[in-house]
Amino acid sequence: MTLLQWLKLKSGLDNGSAKYSYGDDPVLGFTSNRKHSERWVNSTCGYCSVGCGMQLGVRDGKVVTVRGNPDHPVNLGKLCPKGLAEHYAIDAEGRAKYPLLRKDGQLTRIGWNEAIDTLVKRFRKVQEKYGPESLGIISTGQLVTEEFYALGKLVQLGFGTSNYDGNTTLCMAAAVAGYKRSFGSDGPPGAYEDLEKADVILLIGANVAENHPILCARLEANATRTLIVADPRVTKTAMMADIYLPLKPRSDLALINAILRVVMDEDLYDKEYVERHTTGFAELRASVERYTLEYASEITGLSTDLIHEIALLYGNAKTAFIGWTMGVNHSTKGTETVNAINNLALVTGNIGRTGASPFSITGQCNAMGTREAGFSSGLPGYRKFESEKDREELAGLWNLPFDRIPTKRGLAYPDIIEAAVSKKIRALWIIGTNPLVSFPNIDVLKHGLANLDLLVVQDGFHPTPTTELADLLLPAAIWGEKEGTYTNSERRVSKVNAAVSPPGEARSDFDIFLAVAEKLGCREELFAGWTSPVDAFDEWRRVTAGRLCDYSGITYAALEEHGGIQWPFPDSVSTTPEVARRLYSDGQFQTEDGRARLLPTQWAPFPEQPHPEFPLILNTGRTVEHWHTRTKTGGISILQRMSPRAWLEMNSVDARKLGLRAHDRVDVISARGRVKEVELRVTEIVAPGQIFLPFHFVESNANQITQSAFDPISREPNYKQCAVRVEKSSPVHT
Ligand code: SF4
Repeated sequence: MTLLQWLKLKSGLDNGSAKYSYGDDPVLGFTSNRKHSERWVNSTCGYCSVGCGMQLGVRDGKVVTVRGNPDHPVNLGKLCPKGLAEHYAIDAEGRAKYPLLRKDGQLTRIGWNEAIDTLVKRFRKVQEKYGPESLGIISTGQLVTEEFYALGKLVQLGFGTSNYDGNTTLCMAAAVAGYKRSFGSDGPPGAYEDLEKADVILLIGANVAENHPILCARLEANATRTLIVADPRVTKTAMMADIYLPLKPRSDLALINAILRVVMDEDLYDKEYVERHTTGFAELRASVERYTLEYASEITGLSTDLIHEIALLYGNAKTAFIGWTMGVNHSTKGTETVNAINNLALVTGNIGRTGASPFSITGQCNAMGTREAGFSSGLPGYRKFESEKDREELAGLWNLPFDRIPTKRGLAYPDIIEAAVSKKIRALWIIGTNPLVSFPNIDVLKHGLANLDLLVVQDGFHPTPTTELADLLLPAAIWGEKEGTYTNSERRVSKVNAAVSPPGEARSDFDIFLAVAEKLGCREELFAGWTSPVDAFDEWRRVTAGRLCDYSGITYAALEEHGGIQWPFPDSVSTTPEVARRLYSDGQFQTEDGRARLLPTQWAPFPEQPHPEFPLILNTGRTVEHWHTRTKTGGISILQRMSPRAWLEMNSVDARKLGLRAHDRVDVISARGRVKEVELRVTEIVAPGQIFLPFHFVESNANQITQSAFDPISREPNYKQCAVRVEKSSPVHT
C-alpha cells in the first residue's frame, strides 16, 4: 500500500468501494467488480495432474479471476481451492523478473545476453575441464511438453551430457519403472471414466480427496461401486470409503500378494487372458505361495477375514480399478509394488476395458509430458535407449548421424546429487524445482551444491531457498504467461495458453532454451525454423507418430475445440476425441512378444525400522491448500490463511505417553536432523506409533529428517517411514 492509499484509507476518503463493490458480469453474473473481465482465455490448471480446464479472466493486462471451464471433459467447470486461486500466483510477491549473476558474492542484475553467454561459456568450460558428463540438469513436471522436448534435445544432443533428470523421479519414477517392466512401456492404461464405471475401486496410498480433489466427483458419480481405501492414515479419502483398510506402513505389497494368492486359489482369475496375453504365471504363482492370509495379516495388521473379503470382492468384480499415488511410489519397494498391482490387474483381466485399470495417478500438471518427451529414463516417444531400431528412427527423424543418439540413460536425480557430492558433477542447471525443500535428507543436497563450480537456477520465483544459492538466476514465465500443452493422468493432452505477459524481463522456458541453443551453436541443427511452441509441437507429432503415445492426429486447433484429447490419437483415427481411450484393449503389450510380464515380487520391511531411540514412524504428505514447496501457493494469501504453517499429527496414545497436549510446540528428530517447533495435533487420524508431517513448509522442512534410501530400480526416494522421536520444544533447541 502506498502512503497516499494509506492516508486516503485512514482519512475515510477511501472506503474500499473499489475493492468491495459488486456488479453484473456477462459471464460470472452478479459478482465482485474486481472479477469483471474484458476477455477470457482458455487454459489448463498448472498444479496437479488431474488437468482441469480453466478460463482466465483478463482485464487491464492482468488476470483478475479464473473459473472452471464448463465444457472441459475433465472437470466440467469444477475447480479445487488451489485452482480457484491460481491466478493470484501471477502477481504474487517474489516473482523472478530479471536475470541475476553472482558478483562479489551478491546476486546482481544483468541483461539476457550476458546471462545466456555466461551459462553457455561456463558450462562449456566445466565440460572441457571435467568431461561432458560433469554437467547435470534437473528439471520439473511443470513445463509444457514442447519445452520438455526442446530441453531434452538441447541437453543430450547440444550439450552432450546424459545426466538429465526431472523432479518427477521424486514422485513418479516407481510408476514409470513398474509400467515399463510389466507392459514394456510407460503410460497409465485407463481413463477417468473408469472411476465412474468400475464395480470395485481399490485406492492404495492415494489421498485423492486432498491431492486430486476433482477426481472425487468421479467417485461420487459412481453410485454402485465399492470403494476400498488402503492407507495407514485415516485420510479424507479413507473417510469416503465403503471399506477402509488401516494397514501398517509399507505393508501394501504383502496385502496385494495375499489377494493374488486368494484369487488364484479360488479360481477367480481369468485363465484365458493369462494364457493369451501374459508370461510368467507359474513363477508368479510360486512366488505368492508364502502370502497366506495369516502371513499377510501379521504384516499388514488387517484381519485374515478382511483380507479374504477384499480378495473376493476384487476377484469377483466384473470391472476392478486400482489407483495409487505416493503411498506406493515413495518407497524402496515402490517399483515392485507397482508390479504387484499390475500382476493383480493382469491375472484378473482388469486392463484395457471400461472400468478396469491399474492406474497410477500422477502428480504434477505435466509429469506425463516429461515422461513422454523423455531423454531421462527413455528416449522421446517412449523409445528405449537400448533399442537400435528406436535410435535409428530418431536419427532419421532428426536428420542426425546414428551415433549422436545416446545409448543409455544418464544418472537419475538422486545420483546426480550423489555425483555432485563426489565432485563428478561440477555444474548444475536446476529448472522449475526447489530441491532445497523437496529433496530427501537435505544436508546431502546442500553438501553437493556447495561443491559445484556453477549452479544455474531457472525459475518463475525469487527468492526461493534454491534460487538464493544460485550463481546465475534465469527468470522464467509461469502458468498463465506461456503457451503449450500438458498431459494429465489419463493421457489427455490439453492446451495451455498465455493470458498475460511475464513480469519484468522474464521469458518463457521455451525462449530461454532456444536462446541457449543459439549461443551454443546448435539451434539450426536441432531446432531449425522453430520460433514458437507450435513448431516444437508439430515436430513432436511426427516424432510420436506410430508410437504408443501417438500425437499425430492432435493439433492445437483440435485441442482448443475439444478441450483435451487422450493419446494415442493417430491422424488416421476413426473414433472421435470425446470417446474415452484406453491402452492395451487388444491385449497387445509393448514387449518384444506382445505379452505382459507377470513379475514375482517380495515384501520386505521398510529400511529404517523404529527402535528405542527413534520409536515413531514418520509419514509425510500434503494438504489440499498447498502445492509442493509453496513457491506458488505460499504467496497466495487466501491459501496461506487456510493453511499457514506445518503441523504434526500424533495419536492420543503416544501424546499421553510423552506428556504432550494439543497445540504444544514439538520438535521431530531423526538420526539426520531436527524439525523444530511444529504445532501438535492430537488425533485418531494416525495410528499409535505413527506420526504425520506435511512436507510443504520450508520453516518446518520434513526433509531435514527424511532419509537417503532409494528404490534400487526406479531411484525414487523412500520419503515415508522414517524412524523419529518427538520432544516438546525447548528454548535450548530453538
Ligand atoms: S484438482 Fe488439480 S488440476 Fe484440478 S483445479 Fe485442483 S489442482 Fe488444478
